[in-house]
Order: sequence, then C-alpha cells, then structure tokens
Amino acid sequence: MTTHIMPTYQRLPITFARGEGAWLWDENNNRYLDALSGIAVCNLGHAHPAVHQAICEQSGILIHTSNIYGIAVQEQLADRLCEKSGMDKVFFCNSGAEANEAAIKLARKYGHERGIHQPAIIVMEKSFHGRTLATLSATGNAKVQQGFAPLVDGFIRVPYNDIEAIATALKQHDSIVAILVEPIQGEGGVNIPAPDYLPKIRQMCDQHQILMMLDEIQTGIGRTGRFLAFQHHNLLPDVCSLAKALGNGVPIGACLARGKAAEVLTAGVHGSTFGGNPLACRAALAVLDTLDAENLIETVTAKGDALCAGLTERLQHNKHVIEIRHLGLMIGVELDSPCAELVKSALAHGLLINVTNEKTIRLLPPLIIDEQQIQHIVDSLSVLIQDFTEQL
Ligand SMILES: *Cc1c(COP(=O)(O)O)cnc(C)c1O
Repeated sequence: MTTHIMPTYQRLPITFARGEGAWLWDENNNRYLDALSGIAVCNLGHAHPAVHQAICEQSGILIHTSNIYGIAVQEQLADRLCEKSGMDKVFFCNSGAEANEAAIKLARKYGHERGIHQPAIIVMEKSFHGRTLATLSATGNAKVQQGFAPLVDGFIRVPYNDIEAIATALKQHDSIVAILVEPIQGEGGVNIPAPDYLPKIRQMCDQHQILMMLDEIQTGIGRTGRFLAFQHHNLLPDVCSLAKALGNGVPIGACLARGKAAEVLTAGVHGSTFGGNPLACRAALAVLDTLDAENLIETVTAKGDALCAGLTERLQHNKHVIEIRHLGLMIGVELDSPCAELVKSALAHGLLINVTNEKTIRLLPPLIIDEQQIQHIVDSLSVLIQDFTEQL
C-alpha cells in the first residue's frame, strides 16, 4: 500500500469504503460483518444516523473555540457522564492514552500533596494502557516497551487477578498512591478476573487511602452490559478513564474522578488544545442519547450470552478450544495454539475478528447487532475454528 505512511501497523490487505450498522463494504463492494467495531469503538455500528446528524449540525454551528473559554456542550457532556457513572468531575482529552496520562498525573499529584515525593502506582501484568511514554511504561507487555527505554519510573507491577500480590506490594512499599487496573483485560487476552477482585481492590484502596483507578477505555460505554464495567459491582472507583466508544469513532477521551481525587487537577496543571471541543462533545452526547433512547445497554447481556451459547454448542467437542469467556459483548475464545491466521481466513469469509495474546480470538461486535447477525457470526466463526483446528 502507500509508502508515505510510517509502517507502524501490520495492516490487513483490505480497505473499507463505507459502512452501515454492523456491515462494512470494501472498495470492490464486498460485504463484511464487523465483529470487532474498530476495536470496541463503533459500539453503535457504522454511520449511525444520530451521530451523523449531531456532527453535521455541530460543524455548522461551532467546531472549536478553546478551553480558554466556556464550552456549553462540554459542560453538558460532563453532567451526563457524571450522572451515568456516579463520578464527580471530568477532564476531556482526545484518546485513551491521554485519559490514562491524566489519571497517572492525577495520582502523582495526589501523592505529592500528601508528602509522598516518589509516588508509585501499582499496575498489572498483561495490562494495556496506551502508547505514550507514561502509558507504555504502565503497560504490562514487553513488546510495547521494546526499544523505548528509559521508561517512565514509578510503576510497580503485579500479576492480574491476584489480590495477595497487591497486598504484598502494599506491605513492601510505602510510596504507593494508586492502583491502575482494567476491569477486564482486553489486549491482554480478554482476561476476566474473579468476581470479588474489584471489590477487594476497593477495600484495599480505602484501607490505605490510595486511589482506585479503572481503565474502562475498552470495557466502558455499554460493552459489558452496564454503562461502565465497574457497575456490575456495588462500588465506585476514584478515577476512571474512558475513550474508544465514547464518540463512536470521533476522537474523544475522558478522565473521570470522584471525591478527593476530583480536586487534584487544578488551573494550569493539565490541559489539551482539542480536548472537549464542541464537535467531539456533541458526538459523545449523541452516543449517550442513543444508548438511552434505544435502551441498548439492556440488550447487551442477552446478546453476548446468545453469541457465546451458540459458539459453545458448536465447539464443545473441539479439544483445541480451551475456554469461551465473556461479559456482555466482550468475548474471548481461547485456543490451545497460536491462531493469528484465523483473522485472515475470517476476512476471506467476510467476517472481521481479532486475535489477542496470540491464542485468544476476540469478538467486540457493535451493541446494535441483531439476532440474525449473531447467528451469522456463530455459523461462520465455528466453521472457521473447526477447519483451523483440524489442521493442528
Ligand atoms: C485502546 C486502549 C487504550 C489506548 O487508547 P488509545 O486511544 O489508543 O490511546 C488504553 N487502555 C485500554 C484498556 C485500551 O483498550
């Protein structure tokens, strides 16, 4: 393909020309069922009329002024996000990495204000938090960090889903100011922790007066069957980062904070030129309005259960399928062997999927997916997996 784009991505040999709902069409007008949503971004599907209309209207009113001035739609969006999440305040930015950067800066400043001069944040093995220097340093994947030393200091890494390891770290270090964790690890292989993992982290954070910071960039905005994944539990984090599906494809990120954590980032200590501009906020408001108006999130649990029940039924006798796990429409099918080639064979059969952590097929279909489309995914993916594992 083009030679003037830096080769930072291993791209599949396909270019999409247009989309509608859960469908995409390539340049030769071949149709594909999108079971990935641009990696949990287009939760309302492609070319959603409400998002389309919001962007068109707002671009004819005002796209950008500056955070030097008041921005009415930004205030509206912050109100809606706080109302839906139980958080108190929002900082707007343009991506997931930036939302986590804000969270990391917030945690450090929280520490400094309490006399901790070398504040440290507990992070997890197999985590993914982004590609900026601080967020790649927080990320638990050597490939992401390879070649970028010296890394940003101040992260203490423990295994995911291991409460004892956190307790040990807290005993060994008196400089810890926060725990940063994904409610379900996405890039790390769709890893779903024990049901008491987040509640226990909440308890430990309370005991030690440190911040519970949840990276909900992939799990948020209805993906798991709640607006935010922590809402499966009876708890609130102190900090929560959002991005991906918040704008259904229009770049926007947000760092939400609550209580003492909401008072840390004050005038002049953090900022963004584009963050929270009228266009992006209007798109995000349209996303939230649509989720509410169509009661979409309430449909996610049944859809995810149906998709996984279908796959389980078809694949139950396949010895190479280790586990099919999901929460809502965040789905992982773990095989016993590396299966990245399945992405290409699925593409050739008109289905868009992804493989993470080498052996786990990841499905993140749009929340608007219907029964027939779910059946289509079950039918074609189970055949593809059977064919693939027969050759192993
Ligand atoms: C995608 C993702 C990020 C990074 O978001 P960008 O918008 O690519 O910077 C961070 N954390 C998680 C959990 C993600 O899934």
